[in-house]
Amino acid sequence: MTEQLIDLLSRVESAEGGREIHDPATGELVGRTPEASPEDLDQAVARVRAQQPGWAGRSDAQRAEFLEAAADAVEAHAEELARLLSREQGKPLNGPNARFEVGACAAWLRATAQFRLEPEVLVDDDSAKATLHWRPLGVVGAIGPWNWPMMISIWQIAPSLRQGNTVVIKPSGYTPLSVLALVEVLNTVLPEDVLIAVPGRGDVGQALSRHPGVDKIMFTGSTQTGKSIIKDAADTVKRLTMELGGNDAGIVLDDADPEAIAEGLFWGAFINTGQTCAAMKRLYVPDALYDQVCEALVDIAHKMPMGVGLEEHNVLGPLQNSSQWEIVDRLVTAAVDSGARVLTGADPDPDRTGHFYPTTLIADIDPDNELVTEEQFGPALPIIRYSDLDQAIEWANSLEQALGSSVWSSDPERAEGVAARLIAGTTWINKHGAVDPRMPFGGARQSGFGLEFGVEGLKEVSQPHIISR
Ligand code: NAD
Repeated sequence: MTEQLIDLLSRVESAEGGREIHDPATGELVGRTPEASPEDLDQAVARVRAQQPGWAGRSDAQRAEFLEAAADAVEAHAEELARLLSREQGKPLNGPNARFEVGACAAWLRATAQFRLEPEVLVDDDSAKATLHWRPLGVVGAIGPWNWPMMISIWQIAPSLRQGNTVVIKPSGYTPLSVLALVEVLNTVLPEDVLIAVPGRGDVGQALSRHPGVDKIMFTGSTQTGKSIIKDAADTVKRLTMELGGNDAGIVLDDADPEAIAEGLFWGAFINTGQTCAAMKRLYVPDALYDQVCEALVDIAHKMPMGVGLEEHNVLGPLQNSSQWEIVDRLVTAAVDSGARVLTGADPDPDRTGHFYPTTLIADIDPDNELVTEEQFGPALPIIRYSDLDQAIEWANSLEQALGSSVWSSDPERAEGVAARLIAGTTWINKHGAVDPRMPFGGARQSGFGLEFGVEGLKEVSQPHIISR
């Protein structure tokens, strides 16, 4: 482990009055987090604001080089970061989890370094010449969730820095150490005070959203918190990117091959033990394939070990916190009480250590059941039977949240036709939740607004400026 990380971890472990952070799998102490006071926040904003003109004054190519260097630094510290992430968040090292997340941080930094947002000539004729330029906004406030704390931080930091903004980042109160460590690693290569972390809970996020020295909030988290931030940002007319909650539908078409799609369906729903914004949270399956799809999913579920993240064979972990465990348990209990059929799971161990909830598949569930209509954000998938595709599409489109969706079929053209009728930010075909730095990502309806990734993502952290003569 590097000196900086040892130093950071010993500081957080010994932080006087710092709040204890426990491993959700074992209950062991991971460290203590400092909490930013209002004065700390003011100072952080003032410091990054002071550095912003100098950072924006560097060439675009130089800022891209800094992002490449940041990716190198993440890769050099990848294993320590993954282990800390696993202990604090709970996700296993292997599978699409901690090592995968740290790898994605480096990949997104490199991809963001490659994108270019060039000025655009809008009009050039006898009447006028007008050019669209993309200027930095100034200071970006980043507020993130606890499910993918490092990767989502990079999604906010990388484009902001690339476009000449400086950043104050407020990690989730559940997973601050992961983000503090990541920021520490990034700051081994970034100039001083272009990126500062302010650990704390909702009150710090609220103060950041209201802060007059902050020009934009990039927020990823629940729809409920997003609504509150939209109100708090109004007085200073901040720019906003809102990546909010999802309740993604997957629709299997009657020409699909259940065996061929089962593993993709499973990971589409259970990636990060279901704690993923764009995970598949409800699955609609036609009568003709219903039993086969259910059986194939149960077979896979039984093969995927759940347990303590640092044990190399595990690919599913605990819920990150007890509040989320309670939500999953309440929704599964409501489903069972309604008469839905338990295919596997739904039987949490009363003597468990840690916030483990068993991998749960629920069949023959009413389309209006709470487990279908509310975001469970955990390892429980309702499988809804349909006999009429139009009805399934109507159900899929019936909720306020519309982040992602997916269509599963042996005929991709037919699947695209169904996809076109779904309301969502992204609809995947024969996969679910496969984010890619080259493809803009964002929500429809109450899943938010604004886009991340690609050149569209760079525009979100830039002020359009037209020069006309
Ligand atoms: P959350 O809304 O509870 O918390 C997110 C962040 O907001 C945390 O840092 C929290 O401290 C902060 N916060 C809380 N109250 C605040 C306030 N009043 N003002 C400002 N900040 C405040 O969300 P969570 O439980 O950490 O994350 C889970 C949710 O995030 C799920 O709904 C999930 O779907 C969503 N999510 C969305 C995306 C996406 O890209 N759309 C990605 C990941 C997670």
